Amino acid sequence: MAKYSSKINKIRTFALALVFVGFIVMYIGVYFRTSPIIMTIFMILGLIFIISSTIVYFWIGMLSTKAIQVKCPNCGKPTKMLGKVDMCMHCREPLTLDRDLVGKEFDEKYNKKSYKK
Ligand SMILES: [Zn+2]
Repeated sequence: MAKYSSKINKIRTFALALVFVGFIVMYIGVYFRTSPIIMTIFMILGLIFIISSTIVYFWIGMLSTKAIQVKCPNCGKPTKMLGKVDMCMHCREPLTLDRDLVGKEFDEKYNKKSYKK
């Protein structure tokens, strides 16, 4: 159960990771300051990572507007869910919009279009 987390949180973690990778790449670039071409390549690469993370953050914003806001039955806090099954952002309670899936074990396969009941 612990390996699953709310989708929005997952994307947010990914965006944060991109920022870190961007800074690390730029930091590596500083070591090559004797060679301006290599340094420039690293700086541009780092910048690309940081720009990508901005796009991902923008994408989260778009997804959040589409996500359905529900009140978590477990902790009572409002949370957002994407797809048929998702998890509470606060307490990781599995949530579903499909009555047929209530009581079933939480599985991300229910979100895939190829999944047939
Ligand atoms: Zn909750």
